[in-house]
Amino acid sequence: MGGRSRTAADGTGGRWDWGRRGSIHITGPDPGNKPDIFANSFATEHDRKVITDALARTRTIIGTEPFASIVNYEQTPGPAIDEAATARFATEHGFTANHSVGTCAMRSGNGVLDGQLRVHGTRNLRVIDASVFPSMPSGNTMAPTMALAWIAADLIRNTPAGRRS
Ligand SMILES: Cc1cc2nc3c(=O)[nH]c(=O)nc-3n(C[C@H](O)[C@H](O)[C@H](O)COP(=O)(O)OP(=O)(O)OC[C@H]3O[C@@H](n4cnc5c(N)ncnc54)[C@H](O)[C@@H]3O)c2cc1C
Repeated sequence: MGGRSRTAADGTGGRWDWGRRGSIHITGPDPGNKPDIFANSFATEHDRKVITDALARTRTIIGTEPFASIVNYEQTPGPAIDEAATARFATEHGFTANHSVGTCAMRSGNGVLDGQLRVHGTRNLRVIDASVFPSMPSGNTMAPTMALAWIAADLIRNTPAGRRS
């Protein structure tokens, strides 16, 4: 929203607990090579619905007091577009935050790590960062990463989690 005399509303949306799966691959033996990152944004029906619903919810909020009486018009996407165009706008302009996780997921079967954060098939190689999350938390990722590091320190020291003095 902006402007004093004529206030407009712009709608976009962002959610964090996406169901999509992207990918990241190394592009050569040199660690300085940039990786090949494929975000795969809004690839699932769930994700498209979530972002479209977020835009609808934003409209509801802007149409409710105290916003309603100070917002003169909806600038983007604009009220005159149909449902399909609204969904298209939501996926083209919605965002997914900087919370990419799970490229080294802790999971049995097709995961990279076991429940002790060890790389499957190894004994002393652990991964401890946001890449180990098996799915995306529906919130900020810094605190879960710090909690993970705390628990990982206990695992390495062979101390039961949460029993540290
Ligand atoms: C723009 C942006 C905004 C964000 N805002 C928030 C927020 O407001 N709140 C929130 O909770 N989360 C936020 N996040 C997410 C959060 O920052 C990350 O989830 C979190 O930092 C992940 O921690 P990490 O330890 O997995 O990775 P990182 O914090 O990325 O740590 C990786 C470390 O490894 C180092 N490194 C990389 N390669 C090598 C190498 N070859 N050798 C040695 N070291 C190396 C890097 O320099 C870096 O210090 C944001 C992320 C971004 C990008």
